[in-house]
Amino acid sequence: MLVSAAEMLKKAKAGHYAVGQFNINNLEWTKAILQTAQELNSPVILGVSEGAGKYMGGYKTVVGMVNGMLEELGITVPVALHLDHGTYDHCYKCLEAGFSSIMFDGSHYPIEENVAKTTELVKAAHEKGVSIEAEVGAIGGEEDGVIGMGECADPEECKKIADLGVDFLAAGIGNIHGKYPANWKGLSFETLDAVQKLTGDLPLVLHGGTGIPADMIKKAITLGVAKINVNTECQLAFTAATRAYIEAGKDQQGKGYDPRKLLAPGFEAIKATVKEKMELFGSVDKA
Ligand SMILES: [Zn+2]
Repeated sequence: MLVSAAEMLKKAKAGHYAVGQFNINNLEWTKAILQTAQELNSPVILGVSEGAGKYMGGYKTVVGMVNGMLEELGITVPVALHLDHGTYDHCYKCLEAGFSSIMFDGSHYPIEENVAKTTELVKAAHEKGVSIEAEVGAIGGEEDGVIGMGECADPEECKKIADLGVDFLAAGIGNIHGKYPANWKGLSFETLDAVQKLTGDLPLVLHGGTGIPADMIKKAITLGVAKINVNTECQLAFTAATRAYIEAGKDQQGKGYDPRKLLAPGFEAIKATVKEKMELFGSVDKA
């Protein structure tokens, strides 16, 4: 059964580790992540962007697929199904479809409007036992056509949004979605420290986990980050493995054209990436 992400992240923050949010794109992605979490006895959050939700046939399709896998693959570790960077309307759609967690990305609204909409969504989510993440300070890079500049959040604004009752908070600290440019300045630990001082026990979220050096990830966890989003890295691993399979001509040997064979190396590559991240984040055996 899907669970809210609130408890698992409270536990993570208190235990000084982070739970990975791995974004899903299809059945193979979902199965690879769930099986790895079960094998490593780790809690996990499945992230679904609006674009990926549409691609997979809609939110109800996603909920059906994930619930089916939890039951039929015997997944017993805590799993949350989370809307990633949700707009106001889509937060409601996911609450209705059966997601166990949502993110309302109101970072592009003026702070007053972000406060008003977040307040309303916190109430709607909590009435259903669903956890809710909010964002302050746009995360850089591009995700589903949303482009931000990697700004640092204002800690006072973070405090204002945290006080609305959100379960965890994404604060921009110079992080970027997608690949990091060569001239990237790194995470602003000064901002993270200031945000944590004002928000106390609230679990903080680090978006754009792909390509952040391991030592920065570890430092961020010591400063209150309890959820780290990984998306691009699984895509890169999947594509590299699929490319190698085809370049080696394996699709033309025997029944190598069978999609179950064609997609197998990519599936294993996602599993390896998720395992590496869970070990880095410290969530292994924390289910
Ligand atoms: Zn993000």
